[in-house]
Amino acid sequence: MKIKSKRFLTFFCVYLVVLALTGCATSRLYLKDEINPDKIFINGAIIQMDPSNSTAEALAVKGDKIVAVGTNQSIQALAGDNTRIIDLGGKTLLPGFYDTHSHFPSSGTVALFRVDCNSPPIGTMKEIGDIIAALKKRAQEIPEDEWIRGRGYDDTLLKEKRHPTRHDLDKASTEHPIWIVHSSGHLGVANSRALELGNVNKDTPQPEGGVIRKDPESGEPNGVLEEGPAMRNISRLLPRLSDEQWMEALKWAVKDYAEEGVTTVVIAGGGKLSVERLQKAFSLNLLPLRIVSMANKKFQDALPADFSNEMLKIVAVKMLQDGSIQGYTGYLSKPYHKPLNDDSSYRGYPIRSREKLTEMVKEAHRAGYQIAVHGNGDAAIDDIIYAFQESQKDFPRDDTRHRIEHCQMVREDQLDIIEKLGITPSFFVSHTYYWGDRHRDIFMGPERAARMSPLRSAIDRNIKFTIHCDTPVTPMSPLLAVWAAVNRITTGNKVIGPAQRIKAMEALCAVTIDAAWQNFEENVKGSIEVGKLADFVILAENPLSIDPKKIKDIQVLETIVSGKTVYKKIIRGINSSLPFFIFS
Ligand SMILES: [Zn+2]
Repeated sequence: MKIKSKRFLTFFCVYLVVLALTGCATSRLYLKDEINPDKIFINGAIIQMDPSNSTAEALAVKGDKIVAVGTNQSIQALAGDNTRIIDLGGKTLLPGFYDTHSHFPSSGTVALFRVDCNSPPIGTMKEIGDIIAALKKRAQEIPEDEWIRGRGYDDTLLKEKRHPTRHDLDKASTEHPIWIVHSSGHLGVANSRALELGNVNKDTPQPEGGVIRKDPESGEPNGVLEEGPAMRNISRLLPRLSDEQWMEALKWAVKDYAEEGVTTVVIAGGGKLSVERLQKAFSLNLLPLRIVSMANKKFQDALPADFSNEMLKIVAVKMLQDGSIQGYTGYLSKPYHKPLNDDSSYRGYPIRSREKLTEMVKEAHRAGYQIAVHGNGDAAIDDIIYAFQESQKDFPRDDTRHRIEHCQMVREDQLDIIEKLGITPSFFVSHTYYWGDRHRDIFMGPERAARMSPLRSAIDRNIKFTIHCDTPVTPMSPLLAVWAAVNRITTGNKVIGPAQRIKAMEALCAVTIDAAWQNFEENVKGSIEVGKLADFVILAENPLSIDPKKIKDIQVLETIVSGKTVYKKIIRGINSSLPFFIFS
């Protein structure tokens, strides 16, 4: 025994010497002449988000990469004659936020080209009359044959607690076609003119995976269309944004995201046109953020093979299997808490059969794609898990990182299989804030609502996941998503499902390193480590030490992509942001 421990001691000493030598090797790597950084950041609280949860005071950047991370002293020693020294003054620096699911640049499209139909806390509409007034105002501004489009109404937040109908919208105009989309994006309302143009009438058959709501007595459509298959009757008629309008929307969205500290954006489903426009925006130097796009199913074969670069990548194939809980189109295994149309057995519906989904997933899986399927209700999640499981059975593949989008009402038994199959959810956790009260009182009931977006259950199983804002469904704010994950406070100021709250550090992983991992980018993004891209966000306060309830109010001071500032907040003065590409 004695000899053994002596040997161990010797071994341990050798180990220490090796450790010291390795340390020397590291500082050799940091020799000034070899590195000659363009910039160094000093005096910061740098949260590295690396595997050992390190913190640092300073870092050095050369070109678009991080070349050194360490103490003020070690990094300052690297400064050459041309190195710019940036004093962080104790502020917190993190890897840039990685938005894992939104519809960039739709926040710009909505802000510039849609009538805002949102209710508080996002917008101002309190009753259907407010929406009519806003649409009427737009009608007076544009020619009669032009479409009026609105976005963001929420029936449960309106005084009347119902969807507007064609008759409501006809009060705004019967000459203009009008189309307004629900906050969830999964329902829309058309006025009579739009229904006429879309040829939607009492004889139109109900499509598979969608509903044309009809008046029970007359059988006439009441204007409300549920889900893509029904909404397409109108959406196929809508004029596309012109290239110029799209670029305007893009510029707006870039500012919107950069102000919130986002450096990488995942577009949750795009087509060929969107990719072509993005490429153009990059070539015109209008897009300083990195884009990762999912491809709509039909688009997968059209992807150019040599497409990817550090600014624009295409990762997953995107599909949907159900709708939205707050639109009563999420597909559940048990009925909704408050029934829709007095049907106490109503539990939503899938977009397509489980067999059809499995066929589609299997095809994309076999072709080698990562797959992301939207599923909110637990019955839809059952279908998705089944499709992934069957695909693996027939065509085994390692490390697929197949995703479930939103994954809102996932059950504990489903999380067990998700862990086993290596599936990774992207949770829309800010639902707890925006819809938590109504999930408890209307849609899910208290018991199920307490388990919506069950992040703690996922962490307990070591499931890697991300969190997102699904902008324009809710405003872009990774810090609000982190705050929601940590606090689960509703708009009514109640805590929903306290057992599912997670720690700030765990939530930060879901918008940085795990987000990069979910998109196969953990080797280049998501943490502050030597060799990774120099994408940072600088915050006024440290989310790990501030009162957790204040995380959403932390100011984003600066957003940096490839070592270059794309947004900087001016503390004193009237302007809140500088022009982009102020290459500092
Ligand atoms: Zn989405």
